[in-house]
Amino acid sequence: METAKKEFRNYDKLDVDAAVRQHYKKMRQRQTLAYVQRMKKKYLTYNKPMNLWDAMEKLDALIDVSDPDLDLPNVQHLIQSAEAIRADNRPDWMQLVGLIHDLGKIMYLRGCDEDGTSQAEQWGLVGDIFVVGCALPDTCVYPEFNALNSDMQNPRYNTPLGIYEPACGLDNLTLAWGHDEYLYQVLSHHKDNNIPKAGMVMIRYHSFYPWHTGGSYSELLSDQDAQYKEWVNDFNRYDLYTKSNKVYKLEDIKDYYLPIAEKYLGKGPVYW
Ligand code: FE
Ligand code: FE
Repeated sequence: METAKKEFRNYDKLDVDAAVRQHYKKMRQRQTLAYVQRMKKKYLTYNKPMNLWDAMEKLDALIDVSDPDLDLPNVQHLIQSAEAIRADNRPDWMQLVGLIHDLGKIMYLRGCDEDGTSQAEQWGLVGDIFVVGCALPDTCVYPEFNALNSDMQNPRYNTPLGIYEPACGLDNLTLAWGHDEYLYQVLSHHKDNNIPKAGMVMIRYHSFYPWHTGGSYSELLSDQDAQYKEWVNDFNRYDLYTKSNKVYKLEDIKDYYLPIAEKYLGKGPVYW
């Protein structure tokens, strides 16, 4: 595992796609507190019904530009994560979380270039996230772009605490907008959702690398966030180290996963 690990998420390798760097430059520049508040208003409407499996099929068309490790449609990454969790005999709800954790990327279906939520512009959709409304830590990938964020010129936002109370806890922070928060909110508003708390935390914070891997934001964390970190890091190894070029067919895994999805999310549509 050790040698395998080093081959993943290596943003310094010489052949790193310039698009990844460009993606993070735009993301760091444009994800301000005001932007995130605007996106929440715009995208958290819960008025577009779509079945879970239809949403999975829609993701078959999207390739995540921020991921230096994968150039397959995103649904392949979801299946690979779920299958790795299943192979380790982890609980069925965690297998489901593996299968759906990136499903919020279907935001691109109603997205646009200006918001960074389209196929062409993904800086409001994918990538490692950070807290808005306080100082950007140098544990962010490409920290040289931190200074480009206009909030860092604002004395209310550019301190370690920014707009937040000390030890207010993760759930009270506003994070950069993307697929994690979108899916978390959609599922939180889904009346038949029985995914355990740990699974919901995995969904909401899996892209929050400066916290779960970088160890930043200690002044903002509450006691329960240590438990959150255990959950997210437990999940993260399946998100990160299971990427391969093995290609699955959604149809082939449906018989196994659909009953689990129905157990935790019911049979009706999810309102996106
Ligand atoms: Fe993700
Ligand atoms: Fe993922």
